Amino acid sequence: MSLPSSSEPYRFPVAARYAGMESSPLKDIFALAARTDVVSFAGGIPDPELFDLEDIAASYEWVLANQGHRALQYGVSEGEVELREQAARRLSRDLPTDSSQIRVTSGSQEGLFVVAQAMLEPGDVVLVESPTYLAAVQAFAVHGARMIGVETDDDGVVPEALEEAIRTHHPRMVYLIPTFQNPTGRTMPVARRQAVADVLLRTDVPLIEDDPYGALSFTGGTWAPIAALPGMSERTLLLNSMSKLMSPGVRIGWMRAEGPILNTLAVAKAAISMQSSVVDQLTVARYLDSVDLDAHVARVSAVYRERRDAMAAAIAPVLPAGAHVTHPDGGMFLWAALGEGYDAQVMLAEAVSAGVAYLPGWSFFADDPDRSTMRLSFVTHAPAVIEDAIGRLGEVIAQHPRR
Ligand code: PMP
Repeated sequence: MSLPSSSEPYRFPVAARYAGMESSPLKDIFALAARTDVVSFAGGIPDPELFDLEDIAASYEWVLANQGHRALQYGVSEGEVELREQAARRLSRDLPTDSSQIRVTSGSQEGLFVVAQAMLEPGDVVLVESPTYLAAVQAFAVHGARMIGVETDDDGVVPEALEEAIRTHHPRMVYLIPTFQNPTGRTMPVARRQAVADVLLRTDVPLIEDDPYGALSFTGGTWAPIAALPGMSERTLLLNSMSKLMSPGVRIGWMRAEGPILNTLAVAKAAISMQSSVVDQLTVARYLDSVDLDAHVARVSAVYRERRDAMAAAIAPVLPAGAHVTHPDGGMFLWAALGEGYDAQVMLAEAVSAGVAYLPGWSFFADDPDRSTMRLSFVTHAPAVIEDAIGRLGEVIAQHPRR
């Protein structure tokens, strides 16, 4: 007996929250990044040449040789204790942290999803920077949250605008990326952090602080998280990730919390995936124990800094008058606003034909997008490749005079 043939594929019922989401900007980024004929600045893709392959291989070998039976078994939802201790040790430089306050996640992306699972009801408002990290918006949106963008300037979210938005919209939480932000590369100075903390303390709204880039500093400067400011640690969920410091492929991150929410976070994590890969957790713990991560990150940051310089120098002369471009002190991204009359989405097809890709900025806005914006990651390619590709981008921009 043969199955009835049909030209139409079988259609499973799809939840309303995923309707219209057949594609995602992230999937598109990875597709662009995979094209060999295009120099892509679209994804925040670390340069694989900079991975510490030797030490990571040694860490996997050590774990399998010394803890093999445990590493290949189920673990606990909170995360393996060695990794939580390493995480607590790193965090304690800025903020006293006990390993019991750490919850391990499969990257910060899962951390954001766990937070959304644990905290959000459909219809809840989440206040985000305008612009903000688009996959965080996605993780909150599939839980039925409504994102409202709050005005930012060169120092990050504007405290007065934040307070006004809190009083108007009564959000469930505020989501911020204070250091080397994605997508803008901007960093909130200490005074601004304090002003934001004052608003959150005054209005009693919890903070989700996402910090995957903070260690990638080009100036030697370090930034304590907002969670470390007086009164903030108990009302902040602070997310860290090994993706940008060690490898995004190992998919290991963690979050720091205090109080009863720790139990809810563990239950949510268990419901999603039981626990993160035990082999990978123990390997990251071994890596952090045996390698000087700061020295590795300093080497990576030095390379990224050269590439930032190359991109900043190449892009300045090709931007139209009145355009604005950020000059990040760390992280991976540079953000350009071409100004009124430009549409970076419309221009992208021509840019790709010219062999260069970026990410149109509109998708990073929860509401009211500036369509003239683009995000360019400077970390993936060598300076000469960056200079050449930005030159070609410049030719495309020049063919699009302001309308
Ligand atoms: N938060 C921000 C702000 C990011 O830029 C990213 C990665 N692009 C993530 C979270 C997720 O990273 P991962 O899951 O690899 O830790």
